[in-house]
Amino acid sequence: MSQVLYVPRRLLETTRAHLAREAPKEGVGLWAGRREVERVIPLPNAHPEPLTGYLAEPLALLKALKALEREGLALLAIYHSHPRGPAFPSPTDIKEARWRVPYVIFGTDGFRAFLLPEGQEVPLALLP
Ligand SMILES: [Zn+2]
Repeated sequence: MSQVLYVPRRLLETTRAHLAREAPKEGVGLWAGRREVERVIPLPNAHPEPLTGYLAEPLALLKALKALEREGLALLAIYHSHPRGPAFPSPTDIKEARWRVPYVIFGTDGFRAFLLPEGQEVPLALLP
């Protein structure tokens, strides 16, 4: 499956700002849109150990997905942060992967997107 994630820089900054607010906890949210990312949707991290794990709060996730459907936007990616680790999927990220959209990981060394559990990297293209 070949796909590229197109992200306007402005929305990348919105995402980074959300994750900075969550730090030192991991942050989680959705990217949605049609062809490119048009919407950043921060979600509460309901993981019992949010410093080292993430779990999108299920009711907030469901509401967000329903709202996207109403607006005709597709879920393009799920993002989360590794406030003290690299932008690579952890063993838990791989084991718990359930979605067919790319997982975007923001780490101390940048950000990357992957299809999980396969681990295939998905190119990210920044739009002006
Ligand atoms: Zn992770």
